[in-house]
Amino acid sequence: MFTQTYTQLPDDFYIPLTPESLPDSDTIHVNQSLLDELGLKDLDIDELVSGESWPKGFEPLAQKYTGHQFGYYNPDLGDGRGLLLGQWVDSSGKHWDFHLKGAGRTPYSRRGDGRAVLRSTIREYLVGEYLHALGIPTTRALALARGNETVFREGPEQRAMLIRVTPSHIRFGHFEWAASQGPSEVRSLLQYVFKYVYPELNTAEELLYEVSRRTAKLIASWQTVGFNHGVMNTDNMSILGETFDFGPYAFFDTFQIGFICNHSDDQGRYAYNEQPNVGLWNVQVLAQALADWIPSDAIQQSVEIYTDTYNHEYLERMLAKLGITKQSDEDKLIVRDLLVLMDQHQVDFSLFFSNLTHTDEVPKGLETWHEAYLERIKLENSEDSVKDLMKASNPNVYLRNHIAQQIIEAVEQNDYHVLDAWVKRLQTPIDEHGDVNQEPPQIRKNIRLSCSS
Ligand code: AMP
Ligand code: MG
Repeated sequence: MFTQTYTQLPDDFYIPLTPESLPDSDTIHVNQSLLDELGLKDLDIDELVSGESWPKGFEPLAQKYTGHQFGYYNPDLGDGRGLLLGQWVDSSGKHWDFHLKGAGRTPYSRRGDGRAVLRSTIREYLVGEYLHALGIPTTRALALARGNETVFREGPEQRAMLIRVTPSHIRFGHFEWAASQGPSEVRSLLQYVFKYVYPELNTAEELLYEVSRRTAKLIASWQTVGFNHGVMNTDNMSILGETFDFGPYAFFDTFQIGFICNHSDDQGRYAYNEQPNVGLWNVQVLAQALADWIPSDAIQQSVEIYTDTYNHEYLERMLAKLGITKQSDEDKLIVRDLLVLMDQHQVDFSLFFSNLTHTDEVPKGLETWHEAYLERIKLENSEDSVKDLMKASNPNVYLRNHIAQQIIEAVEQNDYHVLDAWVKRLQTPIDEHGDVNQEPPQIRKNIRLSCSS
């Protein structure tokens, strides 16, 4: 069943709007595995992804939200280049938001054109499939299409649209908006969230606790796969603890502890080693928005659950990459020393772990660390158990920026085979795929991208 539950909220949470369709659209990719998961059979995906028409029951609208961008509150945010079409209710009763990205100007577009470009929609599609396959919560794309219009960013780009699917598009910034409007708006939003997003929760305190826990877990998993989000503003944070709103994201080539993937981020607010702190900062903004609805000790609890979850998840996942299961305080040092050395010697992040898994080779400068490591893994059950855990914890496929760029260039030249082949690989990253994880040439390593998409 198709429906639109968001209109149950007060009027100031949304504006009904009709999408600006994509002329002469060509559907580039349909996500068959997600379609199957949703149990959607007779959907006219070409019509939907081009904004030409949508199933009965959907009612497109722009959501209003606010948020903190680079530390400063911005009251003027909202869906500026995308519309929430509605929800698909699957056979188990689960709700899935469908959002059409690039659907034209809305009252929240500010100076933007409301459009999305081919380059960034392909990047969003790729990373959603990849993170999902790695077991990391994320929004996913159901389909993407290109049009014949030119859009201007830093240069001319092709216009495109994408359907984003997730159980909910509610951001931390939705609560910031509600709080700025008054207690009854927060109450309405909480009621909506308990009805449709977190039916297992009953109070704002439980919600804060759960969002804090999930956000900590999410960011721990980003850190251990070398994922840099790039724009962790509170309007880009999902209350589901999913990776959300992709911009200049990057997976490491060479490991750099203070890497800033977003070249507009002068101060390094969203640098790799800041991500865990920023996640907590963002949770505290959410806590402030809920302040009237939670007991005074709930904020402290949300800090504790965040730090405990983060520390536990991070160490467990990093040790798993090294084939280590038993956790002792000394194991933290093995991880810390490794990161310092990788940074110092400009070691390729993903190749380091796959070489250690498959060949036991380490780069120059890490020999002493390697000896200590070999001693440590003797405490594990067996050599085989170490290798099995490493194989399960270190992907053989890695979504480097230069690979994303190759895929984009092929699509721009009307060749969709490269995209198809990479989507299949990214959906099964632990499998063997031959020699597909290669370092880019020096000048293409750790490229920093701009925010504009
Ligand atoms: P971001 O941090 O990139 O997700 O974007 C921040 C805000 O800017 C959101 O409210 C977006 O809807 C809006 N925005 C970004 N790009 C555009 C665009 N091309 N046209 C209109 N609004 C945009
Ligand atoms: Mg955003």
